[in-house]
Amino acid sequence: MAVRYDLHGEVAVLTLDNPPVNGMGLATRRELSAGLERALADAEVLAIVITGAGKLFSGGADIKEFGSDKAIAEPNLHSLIRQVEAATKPVVAAIHGSCMGGGLELSLACHYRVAAPGTQVALPEVKLGLLPGAGGTQRLPRVLYVETALNMIVSGEAVKSELLASLPGQKLFDQIVDGELVAGAAAFAAAKGREHAAGAALPRVRDLKARHANPDAYFQFVRNTVKAMAKHFPAPARCVDAVEAAVKRDIEAGLAYERELFMALMFTPESQALRHAFFAERAASRIADVPEDTPVRSVTRVGVVGAGTMGGGITMNFLNAGIPVTLLESKPEALERGVATIRRNYEAQVRKGKLKEDQYQQRLALLKTTLAYEDLRDADLIIEAVFEDMGVKEQVFRALDEVAKPGAILASNTSTLDLDRIAAFTKRPEDVVGLHFFSPANVMKLLEVVRGAQTAKDVLATVMQLAKKIRKTAVVSGVCDGFIGNRMIEQYARQAGFLLDEGCTPQQVDRAIEAFGFAMGPFRMGDLAGNDIGWAIRKRRAVEQPQLRYSKTADLLCERGRFGQKTGAGWYDYAPGRRDAIASPLVEEMVARHRAELGIAPRAIADDEIVHRLVYALVNEGARLLEEGIAGKASDIDMVYLTGYGFPLWRGGPMCYADGQGLFNVVQAMKAFARNPLDDAGFWTPAPLLARLAAEGRRFTA
Ligand code: NAD
Repeated sequence: MAVRYDLHGEVAVLTLDNPPVNGMGLATRRELSAGLERALADAEVLAIVITGAGKLFSGGADIKEFGSDKAIAEPNLHSLIRQVEAATKPVVAAIHGSCMGGGLELSLACHYRVAAPGTQVALPEVKLGLLPGAGGTQRLPRVLYVETALNMIVSGEAVKSELLASLPGQKLFDQIVDGELVAGAAAFAAAKGREHAAGAALPRVRDLKARHANPDAYFQFVRNTVKAMAKHFPAPARCVDAVEAAVKRDIEAGLAYERELFMALMFTPESQALRHAFFAERAASRIADVPEDTPVRSVTRVGVVGAGTMGGGITMNFLNAGIPVTLLESKPEALERGVATIRRNYEAQVRKGKLKEDQYQQRLALLKTTLAYEDLRDADLIIEAVFEDMGVKEQVFRALDEVAKPGAILASNTSTLDLDRIAAFTKRPEDVVGLHFFSPANVMKLLEVVRGAQTAKDVLATVMQLAKKIRKTAVVSGVCDGFIGNRMIEQYARQAGFLLDEGCTPQQVDRAIEAFGFAMGPFRMGDLAGNDIGWAIRKRRAVEQPQLRYSKTADLLCERGRFGQKTGAGWYDYAPGRRDAIASPLVEEMVARHRAELGIAPRAIADDEIVHRLVYALVNEGARLLEEGIAGKASDIDMVYLTGYGFPLWRGGPMCYADGQGLFNVVQAMKAFARNPLDDAGFWTPAPLLARLAAEGRRFTA
């Protein structure tokens, strides 16, 4: 049963009971509609209450149904809402916890709304690239001021019921019920039922007017603001159009217009990408062979080894979540430096008003420092973030194996080393896992969880749960060089180098891919991260895979000491103390000279070619990762790129983007690139999985 039917005296109470969020899927709609009919047909029933079981009223429409027949099957949300609105007995929505999207739209069709204190109310559709399509844009501005309603619709943010109830002249709620909600709502409904039986009319939101004193000027102002804020997203501007219709048209015309806008948004690539990312984030926390009810280990104290760039940031994540940390270093000076950096970061947050002084002190009080491994004895999880050197990792893991308590999870933050070798330094490889944080570790959302050959399932379940606690998006990767993110980015960086050899400047490549939507192009990114990191990797590769082709330009750059912002010069020049990238004549000359040495006549390369060579380099490597089982799902790869590499959110990640282009077209483009004698033909051999999916007309993502 998705909807319960109970009688409270003369009031029928219909309770949405469809965990986890009382979503308005087809079964719920059918049962609610049947419950309404039953209550209306029962002469003993004076009034009806609709409420939600558990922690909330309703999270809204079931977005898994979007685009499927179920979403339009009768009764769809529209017909259900019309049925409620046309009811001949008072219908009262009794709202608690949260009331979102379609749930709020349903309640707006009720004759009355009562709420428990602290209820969160929102129309969050815009966050999925949509607008509220079941009357929300027409009815909300009729009960709230147009400005209040439009703010909620355009931002998608939740507002507390008390705040809404305190706004003079705005009546989303008829009553805030302090005591037991359903009892209060039933008493309210019974009173309204008696008034109605005595002849009082039923108030309907649709009969109200949405008014604004100066609509033309107001909507123009809002349009300008929205345009500046939502450059790549069409939905916010359509929300404005719909609310304007609520002011300027009658309700039926407004509802029809809202429907038209909603359907148009539903098929935009931006909305499809946002919905993909929404599901991808949830899917990332599920691991195919690790059941959701796997028991987790308790983590109440964390140890971090190494207080450098990463160790400090990693420590802050746990302090921020209220989890005590013991930070270990090999030398007192390094420990002092690390703690000073943590303090400086917090103090900057206090100065900017993002953190209160007492919160800062509370967080700092959770931090202990040490030079002795014995002090890590009581830690439930120990994360190593020392130098990227197998010898040093060996020392650290052997020492941890000696002191860590049984069942403690031992994690490494290594970016490139073999986790299985690291695990083998201990007598408990099943307790070892990779936790690959990204820099700055206290800011970046992404956490790659590296699953070793022997990592225990409960270790994985524990760290996935812990990731949520420290507000990271965790994605599982198998063991390979570079894991998901860096293994793919290497192919992207190789293409960026070939583009320089063939005729591009660094700024042309960066501009093209930034116009596509990347937060930063490969050369600006290299300057920020330090070009010496890639240099070290290439030196290693030259030994391991001497046949692998690279453009030499990045090495030439490093040989000149141009490591990036930290040395004041890289692919670009930097004014002292500034981060603005200035085109460098010296680098252009260096690239041109190298090209001449290779005997290459430069050609003009279109932005479109630049973008597709870079992005399809990611896609092809992504396909290999899927095939090898390093990545569990295509959507995991997208999550890595959206949260860790600045891939444009409105394109949904590289695999989602490739699907949108059509995999057949992706393969055709790769074949064309392979015909370029200056590019690496082997590079463009489609990964077998990509070739197969393209041939079968299938996609990477669901
Ligand atoms: P870092 O050089 O800034 O810090 C390393 C710290 O470890 C230093 O403070 C050093 O004193 C300390 N240390 C060295 N040996 C030690 C030992 N035996 N015991 C205790 N402390 C010891 O390096 P980092 O950039 O923080 O990198 C640390 C790890 O994180 C590396 O494995 C690296 O690959 C990985 N990583 C780095 C980044 C990044 O962007 N910097 C990103 C992801 C992962």
